[in-house]
Amino acid sequence: MLTQDLEQCWIEFLAFVKKSCSNAEYQNWLAPINVLEITTESITLEVPNVFVREYLLDNYKRELAHFLPTRENQEPAIDFVIAEAKPATIEAAVVKDEPIAAPAIIDLKLNRSYTFDHFIEGPSNQFVKSAALGVASRPGKSYNPLFIHGGVGLGKTHLLHSIGHYISDKHKKLKVQCITTEGFINDLVESLRSKSVDQMKKFYRSLDVLLVDDIQFLQSRLNFEEEFCNTFESLINQNKQIVITSDKPPSQLKLSERLIARMEWGLVANIGIPDLETRVAILQYKAELKGLKIPSQVAFFIAEHIFNNVRQLEGAINRLSAYSGLMGFDITQEIAENTLGEMLQYVPHKKVTVDSILKSVSSMFNVRVSDLRGTSRQKEVAFPRQVAMYLAKELINDSLMKLASAFGGKTHSTLLHSWNKIRKQIESDETLRRQIQMTKQNLEA
Ligand code: ADP
Ligand code: MG
Repeated sequence: MLTQDLEQCWIEFLAFVKKSCSNAEYQNWLAPINVLEITTESITLEVPNVFVREYLLDNYKRELAHFLPTRENQEPAIDFVIAEAKPATIEAAVVKDEPIAAPAIIDLKLNRSYTFDHFIEGPSNQFVKSAALGVASRPGKSYNPLFIHGGVGLGKTHLLHSIGHYISDKHKKLKVQCITTEGFINDLVESLRSKSVDQMKKFYRSLDVLLVDDIQFLQSRLNFEEEFCNTFESLINQNKQIVITSDKPPSQLKLSERLIARMEWGLVANIGIPDLETRVAILQYKAELKGLKIPSQVAFFIAEHIFNNVRQLEGAINRLSAYSGLMGFDITQEIAENTLGEMLQYVPHKKVTVDSILKSVSSMFNVRVSDLRGTSRQKEVAFPRQVAMYLAKELINDSLMKLASAFGGKTHSTLLHSWNKIRKQIESDETLRRQIQMTKQNLEA
């Protein structure tokens, strides 16, 4: 086949697709494809990312094979090249025609104190924070989209705004928009009313970075979901960065399969409940910002009793700060208890027994309970057994003799020896400390 003929075939294929799909779909998926090279036998297409290639092959393989020459295996004779991501200074920043104004109602300001500097790290949020920082440093080039999910008051909005601040600061030319999902919907409603939908679409599609908070509010808003999905696809196919937050992972959202699949394309990261040490660190940090001194023992007390939401920890600091401002007292545990009252959650401690410890240790270290009770000196068994003995002495208020006999008739000196050994090892062994902490949490859960 002549090269001109092949070029004509491609043009005809495009014309065919254009007739059979929606305009948005065409603009998002077909328009970004460039023909890089044509030989007599094959065509090389440049696509902005693997998603476009997959889209083309998933949806139009048969048609492609019909319009273009095929190889021996009946596959269309196409080679794909993924375009190099354009440098961050996108041409859109030097807009040729008139600048596209941001619709007024979505002009959401970033919260000034929601920056990376003010975000306290711990094991529950380290991963998501570094992903957020990665995205902020190299928008459109690391994880795209970045999907952050987790419970209420755990710092999702804080991280989203941190990305916004960082990019506006370090990549000044990039056009960043941070919206709540409600904001997006309101904006769409308003632009439908004032017949300016095209302008709104143009605005969103001209962004370099779109930050969307609380996507769960898009559930059961069918009409808006489609427009959101089109905007999403348009941006991602130009390698523009998208970050989304949600109270659930994508798979649990009641949204179309298409949108869920799109949101799972990049990195899905969970932000968890901070552990005790991190809660104390957050508490101390926020107290310091307010000029409030909280003795470490009282900070631990508060963090132990406010445990599933960072926003509540802040509430506690605000209340204590108001109190100490009014009364001029130093904060003691008694004052904290009285002032915070119903904010403190008291969970009845489950009764810890040697049996429950053995069960918990057996699942943490992947050994059998019967082996823990047995006499094997193999390291894989003997070490978890010592951990279990350590926990028994720490958590159960009973005589050493009784505890030791519950371990299949060991002596009290064996138990004491194990306790001492593990106690010392914890001081230098971070992994062990975490394992023990998690076992304790499981016991109390
Ligand atoms: P979400 O959006 O997940 O409901 P937010 O981002 O609004 O939660 O966080 C609630 C409050 O807790 C905010 O004031 C935020 O600054 C604070 N916060 C949450 N996590 C942290 C953290 N790791 N370090 C410091 N402050 C935090
Ligand atoms: Mg939020």
